[in-house]
Amino acid sequence: MTDATPPALTSLGLKATLPRLRVIEVFRQSALRHLGAEDVYRQLIQLGESVGLSTVYKVLSQFEQVGLLRRSELGQSHTVYELVDADSPRHGHLLCTASGQVTELHLPDLEQRLVELASQHGLQLRHWSLTAWGQPGDAGHCAHSGHAHPR
Ligand SMILES: [Zn+2]
Repeated sequence: MTDATPPALTSLGLKATLPRLRVIEVFRQSALRHLGAEDVYRQLIQLGESVGLSTVYKVLSQFEQVGLLRRSELGQSHTVYELVDADSPRHGHLLCTASGQVTELHLPDLEQRLVELASQHGLQLRHWSLTAWGQPGDAGHCAHSGHAHPR
């Protein structure tokens, strides 16, 4: 977890409204890096903020447009957001289909290979994304949740 201050909202062309500041705060203080809109909404309510879910969606999408948050579609309308910062290089995501837990996959070998492959096609690699899905194995649960899932 980094303490690096995100760029000032005003420098990104956004007014520092209360909902916007609170949403950033939720991401910076959350134990989980990857949050869905409803996770953010629930945490705001817990903080005593009276904010609507539609406002949360709007703020998340504005933050994505200015590059403050990265949005990842993990399939089956499972969308998560995470802060873009220097400590978080591009990574893939491993999703537990039972709990919805998201794990970051750091794949420098794969990225290097993609750079080579793109270059063989005369391209400079700009972006890649990877999502892998798994279900609980013999242990009956994924490493994070610590509790059994129905199989
Ligand atoms: Zn991620």
